[in-house]
Amino acid sequence: MPRKGQFKIRDEYWTVNFGDPGRGNLGVCLHDKKQIIIKPNRPLVEMFSTIIHEALHAAHPYLTEDEILTGEQTAMNALKRAGCLSHLLTEED
Ligand SMILES: [Zn+2]
Repeated sequence: MPRKGQFKIRDEYWTVNFGDPGRGNLGVCLHDKKQIIIKPNRPLVEMFSTIIHEALHAAHPYLTEDEILTGEQTAMNALKRAGCLSHLLTEED
Protein backbone atom coordinates (compact mmCIF):
# COMPACT_ATOMS: atom_id res chain seq x y z
CA MET A 1 0.00 0.00 0.00
CA PRO A 2 1.49 3.37 -0.99
CA ARG A 3 2.09 5.95 1.73
CA LYS A 4 0.90 9.55 1.46
CA GLY A 5 2.68 11.27 -1.40
CA GLN A 6 3.68 7.99 -3.00
CA PHE A 7 2.66 6.77 -6.43
CA LYS A 8 3.72 3.85 -8.54
CA ILE A 9 5.42 3.88 -11.94
CA ARG A 10 5.38 0.33 -13.25
CA ASP A 11 6.89 -1.59 -10.26
CA GLU A 12 8.63 1.33 -8.48
CA TYR A 13 7.33 3.73 -5.85
CA TRP A 14 7.97 7.44 -6.38
CA THR A 15 7.11 10.33 -4.07
CA VAL A 16 5.66 13.75 -4.83
CA ASN A 17 6.39 16.48 -2.28
CA PHE A 18 6.06 20.21 -2.03
CA GLY A 19 9.28 22.16 -1.59
CA ASP A 20 11.84 24.26 -3.43
CA PRO A 21 12.53 22.66 -6.82
CA GLY A 22 15.49 25.02 -7.27
CA ARG A 23 16.64 27.27 -10.12
CA GLY A 24 13.37 29.23 -10.04
CA ASN A 25 11.52 26.18 -11.43
CA LEU A 26 7.91 25.24 -10.67
CA GLY A 27 8.86 21.58 -10.35
CA VAL A 28 11.65 19.08 -10.74
CA CYS A 29 11.89 15.33 -11.37
CA LEU A 30 14.76 13.60 -9.56
CA HIS A 31 15.21 10.20 -11.21
CA ASP A 32 17.96 9.08 -8.80
CA LYS A 33 15.72 9.69 -5.76
CA LYS A 34 12.49 8.72 -7.52
CA GLN A 35 11.04 11.99 -6.35
CA ILE A 36 9.04 14.89 -7.78
CA ILE A 37 9.26 18.24 -5.99
CA ILE A 38 6.56 20.85 -6.65
CA LYS A 39 6.78 24.53 -5.72
CA PRO A 40 4.01 25.15 -3.15
CA ASN A 41 1.55 28.02 -2.80
CA ARG A 42 0.97 28.44 -6.52
CA PRO A 43 -2.44 28.51 -8.26
CA LEU A 44 -3.96 25.02 -8.14
CA VAL A 45 -4.29 24.71 -11.93
CA GLU A 46 -0.59 25.59 -12.31
CA MET A 47 0.36 22.97 -9.70
CA PHE A 48 -1.80 20.38 -11.56
CA SER A 49 -0.03 21.06 -14.85
CA THR A 50 3.38 21.00 -13.12
CA ILE A 51 2.62 17.65 -11.48
CA ILE A 52 1.46 16.22 -14.84
CA HIS A 53 4.64 17.58 -16.47
CA GLU A 54 7.00 16.10 -13.86
CA ALA A 55 5.07 12.80 -13.71
CA LEU A 56 5.53 12.48 -17.48
CA HIS A 57 9.29 13.08 -17.03
CA ALA A 58 9.30 10.39 -14.31
CA ALA A 59 7.40 7.80 -16.36
CA HIS A 60 9.06 8.56 -19.71
CA PRO A 61 12.67 9.75 -19.13
CA TYR A 62 13.53 9.31 -22.83
CA LEU A 63 10.99 11.90 -24.07
CA THR A 64 12.20 15.34 -25.14
CA GLU A 65 11.09 18.50 -23.32
CA ASP A 66 8.87 19.34 -26.32
CA GLU A 67 7.18 15.94 -26.14
CA ILE A 68 6.65 16.34 -22.38
CA LEU A 69 5.15 19.82 -22.93
CA THR A 70 2.79 18.43 -25.58
CA GLY A 71 1.65 15.71 -23.16
CA GLU A 72 1.17 18.23 -20.34
CA GLN A 73 -0.84 20.61 -22.55
CA THR A 74 -2.92 17.75 -23.99
CA ALA A 75 -3.79 16.42 -20.52
CA MET A 76 -4.67 19.91 -19.26
CA ASN A 77 -6.80 20.67 -22.34
CA ALA A 78 -8.66 17.36 -21.97
CA LEU A 79 -9.26 18.02 -18.24
CA LYS A 80 -10.53 21.52 -19.04
CA ARG A 81 -12.78 20.36 -21.90
CA ALA A 82 -14.16 17.57 -19.71
CA GLY A 83 -15.11 20.22 -17.15
CA CYS A 84 -12.87 18.72 -14.47
CA LEU A 85 -11.14 22.03 -13.73
CA SER A 86 -14.12 24.37 -14.19
CA HIS A 87 -14.38 25.24 -10.48
CA LEU A 88 -10.68 26.25 -10.48
CA LEU A 89 -10.46 28.26 -13.68
CA THR A 90 -10.95 31.97 -14.24
CA GLU A 91 -12.43 33.51 -17.41
CA GLU A 92 -8.91 33.87 -18.89
CA ASP A 93 -8.03 30.17 -18.54
ZN1 LIG B 1 10.33 19.47 -18.30
